[in-house]
Amino acid sequence: MVESLTSYIMRLAEAHDVNVYHLAARVILPAIGVHDKWWAGFQTANGFGRMSRRLVTGLEHLTLRRDLVWLTTLPWGTVLSARGLLRSGRAWCPACLEEQRLKGQSVHEPLLWAFDVVTMCPRHNRMLCLQCPKCGRRQLSLRLNSQPGRCYRCRQWFGDLPPATAALEFIDESHDEKRQRWRSKTLGDALAAVTGGRSRPQPGKFQSILGVFCNRFRECQDPRESLSALSRAFGLPYHALHRRHLSRVVSLRTALDVGYALGISATDLLNDASCTQDLNIPTTSAVRSLCEESGLRLGSLSQHHQALRLRHAMESALADPSMPCPSLTKIAASYGYSRVGVSRKYPKLTRALVKRHRDQQYRAYERKVQHIRTSVPEAVRALTASGVYPSRNRVAGKLGYPHTDKTVARYWRETLKQLGVKSRQ
Ligand SMILES: [Zn+2]
Ligand SMILES: [Zn+2]
Repeated sequence: MVESLTSYIMRLAEAHDVNVYHLAARVILPAIGVHDKWWAGFQTANGFGRMSRRLVTGLEHLTLRRDLVWLTTLPWGTVLSARGLLRSGRAWCPACLEEQRLKGQSVHEPLLWAFDVVTMCPRHNRMLCLQCPKCGRRQLSLRLNSQPGRCYRCRQWFGDLPPATAALEFIDESHDEKRQRWRSKTLGDALAAVTGGRSRPQPGKFQSILGVFCNRFRECQDPRESLSALSRAFGLPYHALHRRHLSRVVSLRTALDVGYALGISATDLLNDASCTQDLNIPTTSAVRSLCEESGLRLGSLSQHHQALRLRHAMESALADPSMPCPSLTKIAASYGYSRVGVSRKYPKLTRALVKRHRDQQYRAYERKVQHIRTSVPEAVRALTASGVYPSRNRVAGKLGYPHTDKTVARYWRETLKQLGVKSRQ
């Protein structure tokens, strides 16, 4: 997997036995001639802003390399929107890092991990980590002492951690694991294709695919409704689809979600690898079955029929109390209804569904509180016994919760008070 520019800068500093800040301030800055807010600019080195371009030119001049542009998202600037493209900090797969170390390779962090939409390692099917397992700190892209694969603060090696610590942070009902895996894999393939020179990002490609699909969709749908119905089928906000359909650059998340729904890879969706005509964009009949699968109302599907399908879905959601009950919003959206529309049509079923969903949510919350109530004091005692100050970040990181979790903070304060440990935060 291709490395990111921030990781390359960290490796350069390590190889020359200086820290990142000194390398940046004394060697790189004079070569790029930027003096204002330059350290903030280094944080976005993997992006496609002016600073990334200058850094690539400066570093290519200093290192005599000619391929550093591939370590950034610069080649994607004509196709993708910068908004929400890259995450503000570092993310990593412990298994990949450990593999690099065991193989004796120089430890590096791939560009793929810098994308906000990538939450999973496509090679190991593991959620990416965002916090140091020892001190619980989140990692900015570059810090004074950053080193590839290590915490900038406590120097903890990030490789080979138990999966549970990493996975807990991302548990979220709305995130479908299969879709996350697909996103990481297809984006990794697209990056590799661009770096390997097999294809190039092509402006307007996504828009033309969406245009072809919308035309097919209109053939089996009331034209006035087509885009809003499509947004329901893809699970995307109407304005996102509407705007992206017209705008020059596309949000990567929207593009990948549409690609996932239509079964088109990121390379085919964004690059010039294949012609729009050659692509397997669903035919009119396939669009019809695609819509029926996602419970979308089509012209031929009568309102009565659709209402019966909705009722059946609500009844089956209530049939088994041990199964997770979907929210009213979710069930209404999948049958083309609003919440109010559903509650007017089936008031009794709606009340039962809302109550069941709320009860399940509450029970899940109670289970979480119970877990925190018992595990926080244990974690505090264990840290104190090993002579480490039990900071909130450390305790939360050890248990796999975000350091901002309010329940953890409450029981952490109580435990410190009971043990008579003075809080330093
Ligand atoms: Zn991995
Ligand atoms: Zn750390």
